[in-house]
Amino acid sequence: MAANQPNPLRHITVKRATIDQMLETMREFGSHGWEVLVLWVGEIEPNTGKAHVIQAFVPKQKAISSEDGVGYFVNSETLFELNRNLSETGLRLIAQVHSHPREAYHSEADDRYAIVTVEGGLSLVVPDFGRAPPDPASWAVYRLHGRDWLEVSAREVGTLFEVTDDQ
Ligand SMILES: [Zn+2]
Repeated sequence: MAANQPNPLRHITVKRATIDQMLETMREFGSHGWEVLVLWVGEIEPNTGKAHVIQAFVPKQKAISSEDGVGYFVNSETLFELNRNLSETGLRLIAQVHSHPREAYHSEADDRYAIVTVEGGLSLVVPDFGRAPPDPASWAVYRLHGRDWLEVSAREVGTLFEVTDDQ
């Protein structure tokens, strides 16, 4: 295996409280008819495929409501700030998560405007504006393979994410 071969994440812990707080934010945005993008940042253990979500971060974004549906838009300045912030704190982007009004799936726009662009990167979509169980296995989870976002099976999601109770 080449030295620069990406090492996709295999086991990610995330606190229940972090998920609860994120779902609350999604429901709040949803009450206005808006989707919201949340970025899970944290620590990645080198060469183990293990990661720990430390924070669910809501970047500055413009909610979009149109006849074509709803969405979000994050500008390049915010992305620049995010990257600077990550390099200052040493934290890493683990996954992007966003809400949908109803069904959770990766739309064409989601494919095109994904913030996560690394091979094996993760994108989670929460249905019903966050009125969903606090368990990634009941959302839709996608992983970037080449140029395609492929859905991860619920069973696989169950072993990929571990929701922990510790504060
Ligand atoms: Zn979407």
